[in-house]
Amino acid sequence: MKIVDIVERTASIASPIRNAYIDFRRMTVSVAAVVTDVVRDGKPVVGYGFNSNGRYAQGCLLRERFIPRVREADPSTYMSEAGDNLDPFRLWDIMMANEKPGGHGERSVAVGVIDMAVWDAVAKIERKPLYRLLADRYNGGAAASRVFVYAAGGYYYPGKGTRELQDEMSRYLDAGYRTVKIKIGGAPLAEDLGRIESVLSLVSDGDRLAVDANGRFDLDTAVAYGDALAPYGLRWYEEPGDPLDYQLHADLATRYPGPIATGENLFSMQDMRNLLRHAGLRRDRDILQMDPVLSYGLVEYLRMLNVLDGTGWSRDRCIPHGGHQFALNIAAGLGLGGNESYPEMFAPFGGFSDDTPVENGRVGLPEIPGVGFEAKSDLIDRIRSLFA
Ligand code: MG
Repeated sequence: MKIVDIVERTASIASPIRNAYIDFRRMTVSVAAVVTDVVRDGKPVVGYGFNSNGRYAQGCLLRERFIPRVREADPSTYMSEAGDNLDPFRLWDIMMANEKPGGHGERSVAVGVIDMAVWDAVAKIERKPLYRLLADRYNGGAAASRVFVYAAGGYYYPGKGTRELQDEMSRYLDAGYRTVKIKIGGAPLAEDLGRIESVLSLVSDGDRLAVDANGRFDLDTAVAYGDALAPYGLRWYEEPGDPLDYQLHADLATRYPGPIATGENLFSMQDMRNLLRHAGLRRDRDILQMDPVLSYGLVEYLRMLNVLDGTGWSRDRCIPHGGHQFALNIAAGLGLGGNESYPEMFAPFGGFSDDTPVENGRVGLPEIPGVGFEAKSDLIDRIRSLFA
């Protein structure tokens, strides 16, 4: 078997929302299709991939480096041992040939887009939902049928006040979510506390509300916010400072008693390992949010889980960033603690299949081969129109 073609497109997910660091008025994603010569149900198997929100499309890197390397490779160098499927690890090595270590930049995003499409194809060729394939290969067959998800939103938005924020959170609760997350750090502390209290009045329990500063604060500000947040007993305090400032996290962790969450902007196993080594995170409460697409794909995420397993951290501390079906499959198949969700943002790439509503804060997965894109009509329609 072989890869017949790989194509990529750029799609817009622009919106006027803003967090403490960036706005999304020009946000894009890369979408890739990996076409194989394997036939299932009378058609060639095609795997699809795209990058999570927050980093931009990677068309240039894909076209100039990563796609040509796969196209030029002899199929015998990326087939599985039995010769009947793709080997995502061998393909990863082919994509990363002649790339120096460190300095990951956003090449990790480009590689992650192809990696998602490869895993989608691998599971389709094996006629399994991806989460069952992952459970069978890497988790002793144990797959979760339903996964904890929380509703991420609460962005800053022109003309959006407390009332609109409450309305948004109410929609999430009505849709079946129990836990919600809002942005902080894009307004003065007093105003953010007012936003937090307005949402707490809806969810009643601090454990059902997380806040996200998107890496905005210096240590003094992170501590000032931490002191103000501590009495609320929030679910977690996310990305208080620069994702690579491990000392800031270590200092904050000695003072802020509640869970700290971070990791969505660490794009390699080595950066994540440094986080565990140097950021003073507490394995009994803190949350690790590495994104399995932005950080070189699932092949690299499996390396991260290896590090985690070797350092006494439980996988249920992992709740990936991204809010899409791929990360949901990984959470269900590899025993993670949950997955992010953006019920009203980044459509159609965010969100889950049409027939698996969120109930009591959990969501199931469709029993179709692959990641499940074909069970999410708005997404598969958009993907097919991009490649038409
Ligand atoms: Mg975040």
